[in-house]
Amino acid sequence: MELPEAFRSRTKEILGDEYEAFEKALQGVSPTSIRRNEHKLNLCPRGENVPWCKSGYYLSDRPSFTMDPLIHGGAYYVQEASSMFLEQVFAQLVEQDSPRVLDLCAAPGGKSTHLASLLNGHGLLVSNEVIRTRAKILSENLTKWGAPNVVVTNNDPKDFSHLKGFFDLVFVDAPCSGEGMFRKDPQSITEWTVDNVKLCSERQRRIVADIFPTLKSEGILVYSTCTYNREEDEENVKWMAENLGAEVLPLNLDGSWGVSTSGLGYHFYPHKTKGEGFFLAVLRKTEDESEFRIRFSKEKENNKIAVPDVVRTWLTHPDNYKIWSNADSFYAIPAKQEAYIKALKAELNVIQSGVSLGCLKGKDVLPDESLALSWIINKRAFETVDLEWKDAIAFLKKDNILLPDSGKGWVMVQFEGVPLGFAKNLGNRVNNAYPQEWRIRMEVDASKYAPFFSFEK
Ligand code: SAM
Repeated sequence: MELPEAFRSRTKEILGDEYEAFEKALQGVSPTSIRRNEHKLNLCPRGENVPWCKSGYYLSDRPSFTMDPLIHGGAYYVQEASSMFLEQVFAQLVEQDSPRVLDLCAAPGGKSTHLASLLNGHGLLVSNEVIRTRAKILSENLTKWGAPNVVVTNNDPKDFSHLKGFFDLVFVDAPCSGEGMFRKDPQSITEWTVDNVKLCSERQRRIVADIFPTLKSEGILVYSTCTYNREEDEENVKWMAENLGAEVLPLNLDGSWGVSTSGLGYHFYPHKTKGEGFFLAVLRKTEDESEFRIRFSKEKENNKIAVPDVVRTWLTHPDNYKIWSNADSFYAIPAKQEAYIKALKAELNVIQSGVSLGCLKGKDVLPDESLALSWIINKRAFETVDLEWKDAIAFLKKDNILLPDSGKGWVMVQFEGVPLGFAKNLGNRVNNAYPQEWRIRMEVDASKYAPFFSFEK
């Protein structure tokens, strides 16, 4: 690995005597880690726990994740371990039961799926991504994760300007020069220049300045990058505190984690922590902010058609949700968040909100894939069938499958108890309802399937 000379000298200045150990660690192998979805699987994987994240685990090898049906069912997310540190912000600083949270730079969804787990169905998560193609991937990953209290938006940070004082917490995982990814993604080395660091640093300030008014007074801003340099990290945090009206908040660290602190934020260096390079800082807004007020409009319900009774039976707690229809489709959003979601829809390009439940097709009510993957499905409303690995992969490839032992009608297919989606059993054949755009396109190789959860047989 040939590092740019300017990067070496700048980082040496920061790390001093530790620099050699740092560079040596960059020549090593990137650890593989996953975060499990506690709403979907009770089992833990074989492997060491990520010390700062209860549901995070290191794996001893990097398996072919595509060959594992569980990842398609949203039972876990493959995520770099250092990034899981944001859990400590929740564990140590978040007091509200139902906060409204914004993840501003969210695709592909590592931190958003984590935040969804930490919210555990309470409050609201607005997960935003400015690049449209990336917003679609974000939406897919969040749908698979299954939390019902998530809204996905595709907006520029500036578009949030009418939502002053809306959020209790704002996460800005900023686009950065990517220094921390050098080991995992050597391509990022070739893209690194001093000029780009400066450019990133200026853009980061603009992004945070644009979004800061959406934070309530005393709200918390969590700023992170995957870099080591001061321009994108400490100097920016200092600039935020001085120019936006905020104070830096400390987190308690366990000495054994190997996390370094500069007084303004927390650094993960690959020679000291088991993970990639990462920086995170926490600031509390000290500036007074006007409180966000919901303006109730007298707009008519946009329900086009009545929601069939059967749809309510598909949810474990239907009364907790506002179920509405648009054209011939049905959706559920947490009832307590209805007014806030309306406010978001009035300002932003909302591409997903809550859970898509299904749609009407002639006399048939078709359950939606998102329902199968959601935390709110009443599994007893459907016949379920557990597929063997080969059939689960065939289902996920959208190939033909057979369900000889199931009754006719809608069947929810699962793998190791984790729902993958719906199929309609017609007796002599089965209609596979897995979304075309999500299907596995890769050639299947059974020898590459290496399960790492310990299933009891
Ligand atoms: N938080 C994500 C996760 O954990 O999976 C990773 C986010 S990545 C570090 C930064 C994101 O910021 C990218 O998805 C990128 O498209 C987005 N981005 C790029 N330019 C931006 C801008 N000007 N404003 C807001 N977001 C931007």
